[in-house]
Amino acid sequence: MKTVPFKKSDLEKLIAEHPTPFYIYEEAGIRMSVKRLIGAFSWAPHFKEYFAVKALPNPAILRLLKEEGSGADCSSLPELVLAERAGLSGEDIMFTSNDTPAEEFVKAKALGAVINLDALEHVEYLEAHAGLPEMLSLRYNPGSARGGNAIIGKPEEAKFGMTHSQLMAGYKLAKEKGVKRFGLHTMVASNERHLEYFSDTARMLFDIVREVRDTLGIDIELVNFGGGIGIPYRPEDVEMDIGELGERVRSLYEEYGLAPLRLAMECGRYITGPHGYLITRVRHVKETYRKYAGVDATMADLMRPGMYGAYHHITALGKENLPARDVYDVVGSLCENNDKFAVQRSLPPLEPEDILVVHDAGAHGHAMGFNYNGKLRPAEFLLLPDGSFKMIRRAETMDDLFATLVD
Ligand SMILES: *Cc1c(COP(=O)(O)O)cnc(C)c1O
Repeated sequence: MKTVPFKKSDLEKLIAEHPTPFYIYEEAGIRMSVKRLIGAFSWAPHFKEYFAVKALPNPAILRLLKEEGSGADCSSLPELVLAERAGLSGEDIMFTSNDTPAEEFVKAKALGAVINLDALEHVEYLEAHAGLPEMLSLRYNPGSARGGNAIIGKPEEAKFGMTHSQLMAGYKLAKEKGVKRFGLHTMVASNERHLEYFSDTARMLFDIVREVRDTLGIDIELVNFGGGIGIPYRPEDVEMDIGELGERVRSLYEEYGLAPLRLAMECGRYITGPHGYLITRVRHVKETYRKYAGVDATMADLMRPGMYGAYHHITALGKENLPARDVYDVVGSLCENNDKFAVQRSLPPLEPEDILVVHDAGAHGHAMGFNYNGKLRPAEFLLLPDGSFKMIRRAETMDDLFATLVD
């Protein structure tokens, strides 16, 4: 059963001051997850987690992750600026972008970030626009050598990264142009909970480290095997054993004799996903061919169910012990039939004003929000270890929405 880390009465007090919908992130949970990930690789020299900023782009979150030793993985200029605002700089930032504009390379280089190139063509583009840094990482796309999954697609159909031969050419070219230190990166799956997937990825990258050393005489110093660790969205889903992942990668690392190679990951979902909650209230209940619970949040606040048919568990707060004997589509008010948080979900009988908690909304949740139908983007709160709520982003107002209009 999925539980919530706050009391209904405390939430009601918060709602009295700040109308729903809004997001809550639990600080203690986020700290625990990042500690677990880093702990699983504590055997690896200078292991680094670069939190994928796009999952939850809020400097308050980046700051608390920084306190736990996490850096930031950025993919755009605003994300670089957010990382900077959170006090990160230098090689605590990794910049992984595709179809990258020059000014983003310039900013990444100025921050001293580890730049991770998506394309062979970008070696010269980066040189021309920002100058080549001393340290350069390249992104590998294994193509049909790997399976991929539904969220990220098959590697050979994915727009990211370079082929094996481009990768080899990239290292050679960068070395000729004076690059001194090298990294290797891949990201082939998202929301993946199979250990083998990640240990196979590690093996694939370790093979390349060996090949690059043997054929080009280049010692890769940093291997980033991406993010993508999945979380149990459904109550019956099993969490991936992160400690076991660390051990499997360790035995590969030792088998390949890679010390002092540094390892990194760039998880987003694993770190913040389970610790974020979208709080919404039932506005209307309607019965036609189906029962509908209309809530005050919409797909514009959380688009994963509408976009990927993703499951998000829903708790009717205070009704946890009632039998889930009614079947609802839980919907928002967008003029868009995908605007559903749940389809044919068994829940206790719902009525207007009921508080619903949408679980596992801490990654790729608020961040993917939008303003369709003039919906205003919701506030974000951090649930502090003392049980109080701290606002870390206010709700948008209609003035915000209209601020860019020119008439
Ligand atoms: C989205 C993304 C991540 C984070 O993915 P999660 O599934 O949230 O762990 C990491 N790296 C890159 C390059 C990404 O695009």
